[in-house]
Amino acid sequence: MIKSLWVKFLILLLSVSVIALSAAFIVRELLVADFRGYREGEIEDRVYWITAALESSFEKAPGWNRQRLIEDTIWSLMLGFEIKVYDTEGELVIDTESAIETLPPLTRKRITAISEQRYAPEESKFLPYVLFLGGTEIGRLELRFLHPQRETTFIQRSNMLLFFSLFTLGGIAVVLSIVFSRKLTNPIKQLTGAVAAVEKGNLKSRVEMSGSDEISRLSEAFNRMAKTLDVQESLRKKMTSNIAHELRTPLTVIRGELEGMMDGLIPIDGEHIQSLHAEIGRMRKIIEGLEELSQAEASYLTLRKESIELKPFLQNIIMRFMKMAHDRGVQMHLECEDGLRAHADPDRLSQIMINLINNSLKATGRNGQIRLRAAGDETAATISVIDDGAGIKQEDLPFIFERFYRTSSDGLGLGLTIVRELVEAHGGTVMVSSKYGKGSVFTVSLPDKGLHNSS
Ligand code: ADP
Repeated sequence: MIKSLWVKFLILLLSVSVIALSAAFIVRELLVADFRGYREGEIEDRVYWITAALESSFEKAPGWNRQRLIEDTIWSLMLGFEIKVYDTEGELVIDTESAIETLPPLTRKRITAISEQRYAPEESKFLPYVLFLGGTEIGRLELRFLHPQRETTFIQRSNMLLFFSLFTLGGIAVVLSIVFSRKLTNPIKQLTGAVAAVEKGNLKSRVEMSGSDEISRLSEAFNRMAKTLDVQESLRKKMTSNIAHELRTPLTVIRGELEGMMDGLIPIDGEHIQSLHAEIGRMRKIIEGLEELSQAEASYLTLRKESIELKPFLQNIIMRFMKMAHDRGVQMHLECEDGLRAHADPDRLSQIMINLINNSLKATGRNGQIRLRAAGDETAATISVIDDGAGIKQEDLPFIFERFYRTSSDGLGLGLTIVRELVEAHGGTVMVSSKYGKGSVFTVSLPDKGLHNSS
């Protein structure tokens, strides 16, 4: 079994090259066979013309007339044949050699040069033909073709071309196949290495990207995945240490106070028992936060969605915050048209709004403002919580929805994670835009499914 992808590619590309070269070879064989057939047919025709000319000369003379025979012999030479003519007694009547002798010197030189007689190959044999006139034998003709090397030259040339293609083009094909298969598989090799590194725990492993083909897009997706894993892993570590830290503080206080009571240093009175109770309350809050998050994560299983009229619903939520807002000197407003509705689980939607408003209140100082703005169309209802508080730094924005991510020491960093889980359970989205020092806008968008404005 071939395991390496680049070897498979190489074999594929080489196979294509071999098929192309084989096709060239087959075409060449067919061409040579055709050429041979054509050539043989043409030679046969010429032999026929020569015998016909000799027989007609014999008829016209009548008998073997030397002058006519000389003309026929020179014409045969022009057709590429050296001939010998014998009478019925077997006596040589004429041959090409003696016919040329009869010519004047310059004509002889020219004819010899044109006919290439001098280059007739030794191995080219004379072939015998019987000459007939009206069914009676009048003599014998022997001839040999003077240019068989022309065919050999054609075949040799086509062989040379074929070998040139085989070695030069074949060589180029092999080199290109190796280069391309390497080029194609190198990024995959890199990716495999990077995946193996991630598997071993190196979440910083990334691959280089070049171009915009499928493999580059795969590399890009891998890099994104590795980055997310890296962020989540660091958040998980942070989460463990945060839980430990958050629980350790009240535990240390409780332990210190209890030891003090046992040693008689701290009186066991209402005030100190109250303080112990408060610390236990803090621990409970942390555990409740974690519980709330795990419930939010599983909330899509238990959602009881209904059509909610948003104006009274949001007014009700604002009422709950009135005292807190008043104490902090913050004003709260609602912008929502009558009859606007959303399709959601009311308990979960309250939880979402409470978390968002709580955050805004924590971030907004005296004389600050918090606005709740609801809007909607046929496809979605959106509710925005807008504050002019502290805002969030750009570098924190991508992470504020991650669990235990917090920008201040206050809180657990779970509120927005819970919000996101609950909104996504509704099939919606939550988005944030914020300017550090100026304020933030959190927008929850819930799919409406045509329930908008129905009453
Ligand atoms: P927590 O439960 O600790 O409030 P969250 O997940 O709700 O944590 O919020 C994450 C971080 O984002 C918090 O540290 C908080 O300071 C910051 N944040 C959330 N909402 C706002 C806001 N409206 N204005 C400024 N900062 C905010």
